[in-house]
Amino acid sequence: MDYDVIIIGAGPAGLTCGLQLAKAGKSCLIIEQREELRGKVCGDGLSSHCMQVLKKINIQEDELVSLGGKKIYRNITSNFGQLEQRYYCKSKEYENYAFGLSRDVFDPYLLHLARMAGAEVRLGWKVSKIEKYNSEYVIDSTFKTKKVVLACGAMGGKKLGVLRPENLPFGISARVFGDCNLASDAFYFKYDWQYGNGYAWLFPVGEKLWNYGVWSADKQKNINNLFKQLEQRLKHTYFSSIHYDRQPKGALIGATKGKIKNNLLPCIGDCDYIVCYESGEGISFAIESGYHQANAIINDMEAETVSIPIRDAFCGEVKKLDKEPLVRQDL
Ligand SMILES: Cc1cc2nc3c(=O)[nH]c(=O)nc-3n(C[C@H](O)[C@H](O)[C@H](O)COP(=O)(O)OP(=O)(O)OC[C@H]3O[C@@H](n4cnc5c(N)ncnc54)[C@H](O)[C@@H]3O)c2cc1C
Repeated sequence: MDYDVIIIGAGPAGLTCGLQLAKAGKSCLIIEQREELRGKVCGDGLSSHCMQVLKKINIQEDELVSLGGKKIYRNITSNFGQLEQRYYCKSKEYENYAFGLSRDVFDPYLLHLARMAGAEVRLGWKVSKIEKYNSEYVIDSTFKTKKVVLACGAMGGKKLGVLRPENLPFGISARVFGDCNLASDAFYFKYDWQYGNGYAWLFPVGEKLWNYGVWSADKQKNINNLFKQLEQRLKHTYFSSIHYDRQPKGALIGATKGKIKNNLLPCIGDCDYIVCYESGEGISFAIESGYHQANAIINDMEAETVSIPIRDAFCGEVKKLDKEPLVRQDL
């Protein structure tokens, strides 16, 4: 089985790369270890930068709405009891809103688009060996290709030679169905000493569907406790009814450039980039890097440098609330 390109990993990075390659008429195989694209640990937030990146691959916001996505116009930030409200988005370079959309919906939608464009996607196959023979690569002694792209995420690439630094930040999130008394056009943040270099969040990602979680760079040992505390507060304070759509789960955030047997293979998404946890914009980086990598292959050149979302790209000026606050001070 011969392909122009084989991509390992069907997250947003791999699926975008495959989608673009297939659109350009390249024969392309995406290999994914999971049987189905559900259960990914994520905040489910498509940042305002991401909204622009999605337009590059022809995904319009009405599609996201029809998938159940929620448009988010405001950030509510709580810091040491002070509430601040920030609007999306002052910068002309970004959209003035973001989207919440469950990854259980978003990733399968990208998969559908990639398949419709002609990419082959094989689920339930964990790649464990990449060998080079003359100018060809052989994957697991089964698939041959001229080019391999690694899109195997922050956790997946170790066996394939993607090296990671120690002490990566860690995050835990859950997705819940529930009746929540908070405004459903707002993204709630808590930056606080107890999270160290990190924060907690809560925002809608579908109809009566909410995502909440914490990440922390320097409190790894305590993160389970932090999450439990946050969850108890949220359950009791903001929800009248609640049940899990996805149970709390944890994952590493970010990874780093790696080499395979001295042949540098292109890496995209989390498998490539260490800093995206700061901005919480891993999905937009994944999609953008997948898009650029595909274009580089189509034009038979090195991938251009991917523009990196800057930390506060999503927000405009910080404004103190002068009316009844939308959140209580203990969020
Ligand atoms: C707690 C938490 C909250 C987050 N919240 C947000 C958020 O709100 N917004 C945002 O933009 N980002 C968020 N992120 C980051 C975001 O989830 C990632 O940046 C994004 O998923 C990266 O996409 P990717 O395609 O690079 O990798 P992934 O989505 O991880 O996809 C990699 C795929 O490769 C597969 N794979 C791995 N190894 C193999 C193998 N050997 N063979 C075959 N398949 C393999 C995996 O199964 C996986 O499906 C969050 C991350 C965490 C941990």
